Amino acid sequence: MIKLTKRQDEILQIVKKNGPITGKEIAERLSVSRAALRPDLAILTMSGNLDARPRVGYFYNEQFAVKRQAEKYLHQKVTNFKAHPIVVEKSTSVYDAIVQLFLEDVGTLYAVDLEGHLAGVVSRKDLLRAAIGNQNLQELPVSVIMTRMPNIITIFPEETLYEAAKKMINYHVDSLPVVKEVDKQSNTYLLVGRITKTTITRAYLELMEEKVD
Ligand code: ADP
Repeated sequence: MIKLTKRQDEILQIVKKNGPITGKEIAERLSVSRAALRPDLAILTMSGNLDARPRVGYFYNEQFAVKRQAEKYLHQKVTNFKAHPIVVEKSTSVYDAIVQLFLEDVGTLYAVDLEGHLAGVVSRKDLLRAAIGNQNLQELPVSVIMTRMPNIITIFPEETLYEAAKKMINYHVDSLPVVKEVDKQSNTYLLVGRITKTTITRAYLELMEEKVD
């Protein structure tokens, strides 16, 4: 995405308000010559911001503006959208984990070891599966039923919402632990947040409700 100059931005606003408008009229409004505007108009049309039709003039490309806005959102960093992770220690019983799930009103819990490093993911389905297995849920630790390292799909704070959305869809999971690397060799990661499908839906809603400029 190219960054527009102040002049190009002014042209864009004029066309947005008054289009279709001829190059001559734009030049008059900006009190410059038609020739002086030519390079800016060329950039704006080539980049897709404006459409031009012979003998009619310049139009604001609404579709392009929406795409630009969407791109702006998709390239937001995970760190600005991440939620607080809901964690349990990995020796916590499945029974207590289920209680925690209801208390915190979340779909997924993250299990950590005593050092606070990410050890596993416990989803609703993991808990349901354990519950219909007729086991003693108060004695069964979540470490037995969780999805564990190195099989956990994670995301880093500096990655984008777009990458997070892609990972959740490609790996069929509802959430991603946001982590900072401690030691890659031993798969040791510090848990710093979570991104869920709700995060992406909220960002989408914000995008749709924000007036496109
Ligand atoms: P639900 O169980 O509510 O459908 P998910 O679709 O997220 O939730 O979980 C499906 C399975 O994938 C579960 O076994 C869960 O442990 C595992 N899982 C969830 N999130 C992740 C993740 N980020 N990385 C790896 N496995 C995950």
